[in-house]
Amino acid sequence: MAIVTLCPQCQTGFSVQPEHLSAADGWVKCGKCEHLFQVDQHLFEMDDPQPVQEFLQPLSKPLQADVKHETGQHQDSTMVQMLMALLVFGLLMQFVLHQRHVIAARVPELQSALQWFCKPMNCQVSIPMDTDLFSMESSTFKRLDENTFVFEGTVRNLSEGALMPPALELTLNGEGDVRVRKVISADQLGLRVPLRPLGNHAFSLRFTLDPSLSPTIDGFRALLFYP
Ligand SMILES: [Zn+2]
Repeated sequence: MAIVTLCPQCQTGFSVQPEHLSAADGWVKCGKCEHLFQVDQHLFEMDDPQPVQEFLQPLSKPLQADVKHETGQHQDSTMVQMLMALLVFGLLMQFVLHQRHVIAARVPELQSALQWFCKPMNCQVSIPMDTDLFSMESSTFKRLDENTFVFEGTVRNLSEGALMPPALELTLNGEGDVRVRKVISADQLGLRVPLRPLGNHAFSLRFTLDPSLSPTIDGFRALLFYP
């Protein structure tokens, strides 16, 4: 029968000598994984000590105080890490709050998330409206029948961010002084919010005119604008 100890970390067995128990209050270093442990808390009796290794090193002094100190340091550094993470998170939230319009314009997919983020703070997420950032790529005006017309075309968002779709002012010219002015919202044009970056967006509008006016209409002028 022999007294042995098992390293609580790597489970290697060691035979225990009297000096292991007396030196450093029983604190020893595992000869395999270098784990430090108190040998008297991990004692076993074995009939056949053959597989047991000899290399168990008593420490020069008890480790209790050092271990506590290390644990304290570990807790301190965890606290610092948590504070740093909170600080970074706070700064990130502040950045998002200030840049929400730009982020919403650049990444339209994030708009609803930004609106959700803004809600408790009573802030708004708006999409930029800038008439210099889009152009009318094409437009056609056709008479379908006596009083029905269709106006269709394409708006191009020239910028790298999303834009609010514009409204349209359509002026129809006829013989003499006949002039019909129509203001058509983006929604009526079928332009969806937002106008995606660097893309063409088709619109189409069908409308009828008063029979007293329609026979004379022979030209148009279209202007995109924000109401
Ligand atoms: Zn070990």
